[in-house]
Amino acid sequence: MKTSKIKVAVIIAAAGEGRRLGADCPKQFIRLEGKAVLAYTLEVFEAHPQVGPVVVVVSREALPWAQASFGPRGGFAKVKAVVAGGDSRQASVAQGLEALADWPGMILIHDGARPMVSPQVIDRVIQGVQEHGAAIAAVPLADTLKRADAQGQVLETPARDHLWQIQTPQGFEGPLLRKAYAQGGQKEGITDDAMLVEALGHPVFLVLGETTNQKVTYPEDLQRFQQWLRAQGVQKEPQMRIGMGYDVHRLVADRPLILGGITVPWEKGLLGHSDADVLTHAVMDALLGAAGLGDIGRHFPDTDPQYKDISSLELLRQVRDKLVAKGWRCSNLDATIMAEAPRLAPYLLAMEEELAGILGLDAHQVNLKATTWEGLSFVGQGQGMAAQAVAMIIRDKDNAKEA
Ligand code: MG
Repeated sequence: MKTSKIKVAVIIAAAGEGRRLGADCPKQFIRLEGKAVLAYTLEVFEAHPQVGPVVVVVSREALPWAQASFGPRGGFAKVKAVVAGGDSRQASVAQGLEALADWPGMILIHDGARPMVSPQVIDRVIQGVQEHGAAIAAVPLADTLKRADAQGQVLETPARDHLWQIQTPQGFEGPLLRKAYAQGGQKEGITDDAMLVEALGHPVFLVLGETTNQKVTYPEDLQRFQQWLRAQGVQKEPQMRIGMGYDVHRLVADRPLILGGITVPWEKGLLGHSDADVLTHAVMDALLGAAGLGDIGRHFPDTDPQYKDISSLELLRQVRDKLVAKGWRCSNLDATIMAEAPRLAPYLLAMEEELAGILGLDAHQVNLKATTWEGLSFVGQGQGMAAQAVAMIIRDKDNAKEA
């Protein structure tokens, strides 16, 4: 095969709502070993040296989190846009084409739910387009085909010699594909992109696909994909992660002192937008950090009036739910409160029970300590308090949800 250095743009069609797998999300978003099927698909194109910009088309419903998960923020540097598709595959690809309006060269279209596509198949499609202007991946039909009537009675058995099963990628010179969509984009009964190009009278050529390049549609496909991943040596993602949190608040008169959800009798309290529970804030940052979810400032901005004077325990509940949604739960917590006064030892057990209750832990899985700063610095001179926490989180398969 000649080595050509041309770059190609790719449209990944992932707007389908198919839930035939029985999952609570479309097939391209099902997660295996911690990663969505679509992410595996994108990785193949990310790694291909001839692939330039990639546009991912998803449903309107999936757009917000798909933009976070599959754009550059999700680690896919080549993805220049994640856009919402239309009611049909054609309408969706048309949206992808629009996002590539300034791309003059070759465009490949690939199904988001075909994660096992190999670089070699992509190479063959690119070469086919260079030679013919339009090329699609296909495999010879292995099974006998029958045509039947509505009652299931066989009408005929077409010879399968020249019949091929069509896959993606389907590749086209950009201007040809745009013309095909401009002229035939609304036609009924169009099941692949090549049909629109064929309708222009432009020849479309088949290149050899691979039998492994299957769509993940039925449960047995998912199993096959799982086996394929294992054969590729894909490592299971870690089942355990750790995070740390740190927080400081100023001490002022006329505020209650709330630590770990417990009101501690004292002449001063901590100043902040919420109840300024410095311990619970450090705990939340440790949990969010462990799950790779940033920090509390990102989730509960102190410019947002809905968090004014809110109990930090309520925010901790929300943090717990965010972890559960990602398939994690806390397994233990260790934290230190830094305060010169009052003496906190008598309250630590109550705080442990409070935090443990929210996180679904036994009190012994939450360990709290208090220390002074020996009269030194802002803590030692009673100007403020600080807290530090570490949290361990573990995979909770039963609760693992999408996204
Ligand atoms: Mg804070």
